[in-house]
Amino acid sequence: MCYARPDNPSVRAAEETLRDLEGGADCALFSSGMAALNAALEGARRACVETTPTRVFVAAPTCAYFAVRFRIVEWCASRNLEVVSYDPDVPFSAHGLDPSAEEVREESEAKGRRSGYAGKSLRTALREQRELGRRAMMVWIESPANPEWDHVDIQRAVDAARDCDAFCVCVDATVATPIIMNPLAMGADLVMHSATKYLNGHGDVVAGALVTRVEDETWRCVTHERKLGGATLGAFDAYLLSRGMRTLELRVKRQSATALWLANALKDFIDKVREDSGVEAGVVLYPGLVPGFVKQCKEHDVEEHDVDGSTKRTYHGGMMSLCFYDFLGLRTDEKKVRVERLVAFCRTFATSCKIWTCATSLGGFESLIEHRYSVEEPGSMDPFVPFGLLRLSVGLENRRELLEDLKYAFWHALDDMRGRDTVNADSLPKSQEQ
Ligand code: PLP
Repeated sequence: MCYARPDNPSVRAAEETLRDLEGGADCALFSSGMAALNAALEGARRACVETTPTRVFVAAPTCAYFAVRFRIVEWCASRNLEVVSYDPDVPFSAHGLDPSAEEVREESEAKGRRSGYAGKSLRTALREQRELGRRAMMVWIESPANPEWDHVDIQRAVDAARDCDAFCVCVDATVATPIIMNPLAMGADLVMHSATKYLNGHGDVVAGALVTRVEDETWRCVTHERKLGGATLGAFDAYLLSRGMRTLELRVKRQSATALWLANALKDFIDKVREDSGVEAGVVLYPGLVPGFVKQCKEHDVEEHDVDGSTKRTYHGGMMSLCFYDFLGLRTDEKKVRVERLVAFCRTFATSCKIWTCATSLGGFESLIEHRYSVEEPGSMDPFVPFGLLRLSVGLENRRELLEDLKYAFWHALDDMRGRDTVNADSLPKSQEQ
């Protein structure tokens, strides 16, 4: 080692751990997940344009972490490249959202902003471009995608990419983690992580990672970009990240088990509210409830103390969302007021929890809750994210206490709404539990 920017033993140790967890040929750590995204785009561009005489573009999913999606659009615009959108395999609509949410989305799409539907699969999007003589320099995949947890069938996406001669497929597997799936084994070229999240798991590091399947020209360009772009990870952060990865498997398994239990319990809770009051309050979004995602997850040997009879088990991650409909029984048709009330309900819900901390980030040991619209686009009527979506990052606490806390917050937030003049208090669900 001669200088810590291109090479550092603490960074290298953490890279080797992640490389092995992902089953890759090499790994590079970055100062953040966004820095890893930038290096992947720039590395692929440099390597691709060398060998591609035709026009190139980036294929990006309609649902992805909002800053990633923004960055891809911004980065492409500054290089005069097109972003071609495609739909994930189970779009948000499949969860049966109510018509008012649809309406909001359609408006948003009409203005050319995310989300919902590109109206085409990845294969169709790539074929159309190919017929125009264009090549995908990058197929970006995020699965499950933050914060609606749409998934992409990675194997199928890779097949479509190969059939259409795409240059590079990169999977943001921040939420899945290598405990749940290894995208490189499914044929992806690169896997990306915001290591800030599950890999570190202690909420005290900002870091990013790329792992490559083969050490090719793209990888050379990626590492060159890190070396001269300078977005390297500090040695102490790398040391903390190595510490975090030691418990990754334990944490992800426990958080996944709690999340699956909670998702089912929350579904039952919403069903009970409907039965008792006739009000359709919302929907639980959890990848573990979607068969197409579950079938992609790695199988683990069941540990000795598991006694449910099976020998293999899959885990589906610790992230889920509670998406509330426009269910507050408002005495107004004015959309602005309806949105304001739903937002107020969600904010009160999130801040009323006593065990769930209301904070940004995910994948740590402690449970976090967040109203995403308040974070992504406060004040905007043109959202990237549904107004009523609460994102939940399940931690290591007792699952029953986590559930009780959410139920308490729900009733507390409703009581708070009852006092507001636009709300028809009689039409709100009443707790049968108190
Ligand atoms: N990808 C996903 C799925 C994320 O959730 C995030 C951050 O929340 C990022 C990328 C960006 O990572 P970072 O905040 O480490 O730059």
